Amino acid sequence: MTAIPQISPERLPELLQRMPKAELHIHIEGSLEPELIFELARRNAVSIPYSSVEELRKAYAFSNLQSFLDIYYAGASVLLQEQDFYDMAWAYLKRAQADNVLRAEIFFDPQTHTARGVAMETVVKGLHRACQDARGQLGVDAELILCFLRHLSEAEAFETLEQALPFRDKFIGVGLDSSEVGHPPEKFARVFAKCRQQGLHLVAHAGEEGPPAYVWAALDVLKVERIDHGVQSAKDPALMQRLAQQRIPLTVCPLSNLKLCVFPKLADHNLRQLLDAGLCATVNSDDPAYFGGYMNQNFSETFGALGLEARHAWQLAANSFEASFVDAATRRGYMDRLGAAFEQFA
Ligand SMILES: [Zn+2]
Repeated sequence: MTAIPQISPERLPELLQRMPKAELHIHIEGSLEPELIFELARRNAVSIPYSSVEELRKAYAFSNLQSFLDIYYAGASVLLQEQDFYDMAWAYLKRAQADNVLRAEIFFDPQTHTARGVAMETVVKGLHRACQDARGQLGVDAELILCFLRHLSEAEAFETLEQALPFRDKFIGVGLDSSEVGHPPEKFARVFAKCRQQGLHLVAHAGEEGPPAYVWAALDVLKVERIDHGVQSAKDPALMQRLAQQRIPLTVCPLSNLKLCVFPKLADHNLRQLLDAGLCATVNSDDPAYFGGYMNQNFSETFGALGLEARHAWQLAANSFEASFVDAATRRGYMDRLGAAFEQFA
């Protein structure tokens, strides 16, 4: 590990803004802002049960998971054409650039769209074109990860994979999201085995609300390379030891955990504990339009609530590059830029 320059606490907020980072846990459908929902609703002549941007934004102060899902699906219903998916991804990628995100590995939920009659091709091509344009125009290196909705069946996941394989060159991995409890990783063992044969990277949500056993199963049965969330791992010392020893990354989402009451207050979040235990924990935004902020908002609020310091900032950024699915040369380039950013604050 390189020596981290001494940085005064007053300069920490600016450092968090300016430091280069990777985002590894962002659901693109969760980045839809009310303004864009209304614009797309008009463009596609879709009616939504909200009369104004203000009314919709007010509804974002949901009280439970179901009220979130109601709005989430109303929002997704305006996405019909390839350009709609492009515009959604482009809006996120611009926000990512503003937060000095160098690398974004973006989740998408094709089943949310194919269930409404939108073709897989429409979804993948629109999102992928935005990722390609981001590289040249925004300097953000973006890739896609297809997620299976775990509340749906194994058969539906297989069907989704079949629909997606013609576009195998447009996504780098698969994940598992949606309602965790009651849908253990084992349900998708055969689907993930097939994805593995295809050379896809494997990740899964586990240990957000679900028990440590789901994290073990994601590792041992699904054979994932990263755990999305994983904060419940702290309840299991043997699991913590394994995650630390094998440097298995956790993509932690503090503001999401706060909104969905995984922790009662941000000050109660266990991010510091995960870092102190030597885990490769990272900070991410999850569904930023719904959960109160993009990357830098997650960093600044979490650092404020937990009293984290510059060394934690360096560790989290370094972890995000270590955990990303890039080649070694690209990773070294990111680390050089991280070092240069810290030098400017020394
Ligand atoms: Zn998530």
